[in-house]
Amino acid sequence: MDPKAMENDQSTRPEYDSQMYNEAVGQFNRVAALMNLDENIADRLRVPQKATVVSFPFRHDTYTEVETIFGYRVQHLTTMGPTKGGIRFAPDVDLGEVAALAMWMTWKCAIVGVPFGGAKGGVRINPMELSRAELQRVTRRYTMEIINLIGPETDIPAPDLGTNEQVMAWLMDTYSQHVGHAVPAVVTGKPPALGGSVARREATGRGLMFLLPQASNVVDINPEGATVAIHGFGNVGRFAAVAAEQMKAKVVAVSDISGAIYDPDGISVAAAGKWVDENRYLEGYPDADFIDGDKVFALDVDVMVPAAIQNVIRADNAPDIKAKLIIEGANNPTTLEADDMLRERGVLIIPDILANAGGVTVSYFEWVQDVQKYFWTENEVVARLREIMTRAFDEVHSIAIAEEVDLRTAALIKGIRRVADAKLVRGVFP
Ligand code: NAD
Repeated sequence: MDPKAMENDQSTRPEYDSQMYNEAVGQFNRVAALMNLDENIADRLRVPQKATVVSFPFRHDTYTEVETIFGYRVQHLTTMGPTKGGIRFAPDVDLGEVAALAMWMTWKCAIVGVPFGGAKGGVRINPMELSRAELQRVTRRYTMEIINLIGPETDIPAPDLGTNEQVMAWLMDTYSQHVGHAVPAVVTGKPPALGGSVARREATGRGLMFLLPQASNVVDINPEGATVAIHGFGNVGRFAAVAAEQMKAKVVAVSDISGAIYDPDGISVAAAGKWVDENRYLEGYPDADFIDGDKVFALDVDVMVPAAIQNVIRADNAPDIKAKLIIEGANNPTTLEADDMLRERGVLIIPDILANAGGVTVSYFEWVQDVQKYFWTENEVVARLREIMTRAFDEVHSIAIAEEVDLRTAALIKGIRRVADAKLVRGVFP
C-alpha cells in the first residue's frame, strides 16, 4: 500500500477497530492495490457512509429487571440505491463486526448485480435465552430506535444470525404502525402472508448449492454422491443440506451450537430438521453419532460448508480440513491466514460474498414484488435465482482465470469494480 493509503487506512480508526473489520479492510486493500483502484475512491470505500449506535432499555418477563441493550445499524454505501442488509442478534456483536458485514454486503450486491448498497444491523443480546415475548419487545424497541434510518427507498433490513421471519414480521409491523399504513417493502425475509417472497427462506442455502456442479467441475468431484459436511443448521445450513440432498449429494454431518450429528452413510436431513423443530437443538438426535461441533471440519468429506458463524476455519484447524471444496455459507468463516493456507493446498473456496448471495438475491426479488404488488410463483423465483447465481459464478471464475487469482480475489474485483464505476459517474457532491 502506498504511504498515502497507509495514512488514510481507516482500519486503524478506533471507531470500527475489530478483527472482522480489519479483515474486511485488509481484503479490500489487497484487491484495491491489485486493481490499481483510484485512491480517492478507495478512501471512500474503506469506511461506512453512516453508522448508528443506539442503547435502549429492555424489560425481562419478570418485570423486575431492566437491562440496557446496545444496537447498531451501519450503511456502507448509498451510491447504488437503497442499502440492504440483515440484522443479527448475537451476544458479542459490536460496531466493527456490523461495519465489516455492511462492507461485504456492498460487494455481494454488486457481484450479483442487485441495485443496493451494503448495510447491516445488530443487537447485542443472546436470542436463545429470550422468551417469545422478550424477543418481540427487543425487536420492536430496536426498530423504533432506527426507524428514521430504514424505509423501502432508503434501507431495507432482512434476517441474519439469530433472527428469522417472525422477527422481520414484528419489524414490519412496528414500522407500519409508525407511518400509519402497511409497508411490506421495508423489510425482506418476512413471512409470505405479509408479502414475503416464496422461496426466500430456502434462498441462501439453495443458492450456494446451485454452485456445486460448476465448482465440482473445477476440482474434479462428482456432485452426485459427493459427501458434504455442514457447520450450522440454521436458516443457511439447513436449507443447504436440503438442497444438497435434492442434488443427490450425501450429507454426512450437520452441526449446531449443541454439537454435530454424523453418519458416514448419510443423515436424513428431513428427520434432523424435524428433530430440531421439536427439540430446538441437534443434541439427543437418535439416528446418528453425536460428536463435537468443531469436529465437522476434520471429517473426510468432499465438500465443507461453514454455515454458522465467523472465524471458524483458522490457522489451527485448516491443516485438518480434507475437503477439496469449501462453499462459504456463513459470512467471514475463514480467517485470512487459513484462506492462504488452504489456497496453497489447492482447496477451492467459493467465497461468502458470492456463495451466500442467494439470500440477498431473493430479498431483492421480494422487494421488487412488494413494490410492484405483483407476486411471482415459486418456479419463477427459483429459476431466476439459479440464473443469477450460476452467471455470477461464471463471471467470477472467468476473472479468476484471466487475472490468475483465487475466487475470493476475483469476486472482490468484480464487486469493487462495479461500485467504483458507479461512484466515478456520479461524481462528488457538491
Ligand atoms: P441462524 O441463526 O438461522 O443459524 C445459525 C446456526 O449456527 C444454528 O444452527 C446455530 O445453532 C449455530 N451456531 C450459532 N452460534 C454458534 C457457535 N458459537 N458455534 C457453533 N454453531 C453456532 O443463522 P443463519 O441465518 O443461518 O446465518 C448463518 C450465517 O450465514 C451467518 O454468518 C449469516 O451472516 C450468514 N448469512 C445468512 C443469510 C440468511 O439469509 N439468513 C444470508 C447470507 C449470509
